[in-house]
This record gives sequence, structure tokens and C-alpha cells, in this order.
Amino acid sequence: FDQRDGWIWFNGQLVPWKEAKLHVLSHGLHYASSVFEGERAYGGVIFKSREHSERFRRSAQILDFEIPYSVEELDAAKALVVEKNGNPDVYVRPVAWRGSEMMAVAAQHAKVHVAIAVWPWPSMFDINEKMKGIRLDIAEYRRPDPQTAPAASKAAGLYMICTISKHAAERKGYADAMMLDWQGRVAECTGANIFFTRDGALHTPIADCFLDGITRRTVIDLAQRRGWEVVERRIMPDELPTFNECFICGTGAEVTPVSEIGPYTFRPGNISRTLVEDYAAEVQPRARAAA
Ligand code: PMP
Repeated sequence: FDQRDGWIWFNGQLVPWKEAKLHVLSHGLHYASSVFEGERAYGGVIFKSREHSERFRRSAQILDFEIPYSVEELDAAKALVVEKNGNPDVYVRPVAWRGSEMMAVAAQHAKVHVAIAVWPWPSMFDINEKMKGIRLDIAEYRRPDPQTAPAASKAAGLYMICTISKHAAERKGYADAMMLDWQGRVAECTGANIFFTRDGALHTPIADCFLDGITRRTVIDLAQRRGWEVVERRIMPDELPTFNECFICGTGAEVTPVSEIGPYTFRPGNISRTLVEDYAAEVQPRARAAA
């Protein structure tokens, strides 16, 4: 990944991709003092850039460090990287971490570094292919109690159990894993939130110990605009057989229907199809300009 052509924004400057390096004694590497974002540009415009910049700054504050750029500066930097790399449809990855100035648990005086890279990550547009649904395993690891981990931060350290769970799922032939929370309730996937449908209404877990995704909030809005009820509540795994449809959503996944979770099967239907299409329309810059 580090040997590509292109430009990365690094502490305020565009540097050639291959030269965007850091030291092995970076605090972020040793102590996970690192937060990031995942965004997508469609037609050269980043969807909900401001919300992502705000969350990025908030994620860092939760980890007790301050990103030294304002929301406006971050938005401008992201737009510049998208433009400079020349591809209007890319995934956008801002990351911030404490540097190598201090090497101990305490690192109040370590410099905060920020980088922004973009790369192609095609969306899966073929609706019929999408409607087949993906298969999910149920992860062994659980999302931690919010009193145990900074759950509202998109912190690199929280992704360790996501990577382990995703690898385990893929080894068993699944696309991803659904994770339960510390109390055994349905939580989310390793990089996306989850929704179910029953009797024309949508049900999704309360985002109190995992990321309240920007896509999740967009999907709730789109569903409500269709007149569908959205219920945020505690969902136990024994309820899974009572749902008709299931889909996951996130910046990377967009809206992706699910056909199986472990022993349970779902039939992607009208609500999933409609939200796949509504979301694809919503992210287009024309739709944003008109809104
Ligand atoms: N949960 C996790 C663990 C994620 O990594 C993501 C992707 N950032 C999401 C949920 C969805 O968040 P968003 O819709 O803001 O991309």
C-alpha cells in the first residue's frame, strides 16, 4: 500500500505517497493513541465531509488529544487531496496520532500528527448482485462496556477486536462478523452498523457502546422520509429469527443486504432494495446540492 503513486496530505503539506513516513517510536503505534476517519467522495465531493471532520476532532478529544486543525481546515485539506489525486470517486482516510517525541504511557507533550490519504474503493452498484445478500458469522469477541473503552471515538485501538473477528469470519467463509455487545445484545459488524426489518418497520441497536455511524444516521433519515418507522432499541440474538430483512451500512459498505447470520437466514426485500437505491442517490453531489 505504501508504494503507490499519488499525494498524501501530511501535517499541512502534500507529500509524494511513497515519502509519507513516520518513526517506529511513534506513540500511536505503541499505545494506540490514534484516531481515524473513513469517508467517500462521489463525483469529486466528499459525502458529509463536515460531519466526518467533526467526529474526527471529537474522537481525538475523547483520547485526550487535540487535532491541530479546525473543521474548516480539515474539510479543505480533504478536498485538496481528492482533487490532487485526480480520481473523483475515492475512499478518504484521515488519521491522527501522537508522535515520537515521548515514549511512555504519558505523552502530553508528544506532537499530534495528521495525514489524509485517498484511494479507489469501488462501490458495488449492481443491485441484483447486492440483493443476494452477504453471509455473517457471529463474532466471539464482544464490543466492550463504554465504561471500559472510549466507545464513541473512532479510535484505532478499538479495531483490534474487529480485525481478529473479521479474520476468523473470513477463514470460515463468511463475508464479515456480527458482534454482540458486552451484555450479549446485537451491536454492529466489524466496520458497519446493522439494521433489521419486521412488519414494515426498521429495528436497529442503540449506539451506546459502538460507533453511531454517519451512514446509520443517514439511513434512519432516508427510512423516515419513506414513512417507515425506525425503532432504536436493545436487540437480543434470540430475536433474529423473527426479522424479515437485515442489512448493514457504513461508509465503505454503503447499504449491503444480509442473507445469513450464523444459523439464521434473511430474505433481502423491498426495504433493503429501496434503501440501497435511496442511499446511492443521496450521496450524489447533485442530491446534496438540491437538499
Ligand atoms: N462501526 C464500525 C466499527 C465502523 O468501522 C464503521 C465505519 N466507519 C461504522 C460502524 C459505520 O460508520 P460510518 O457510517 O460513519 O462510516
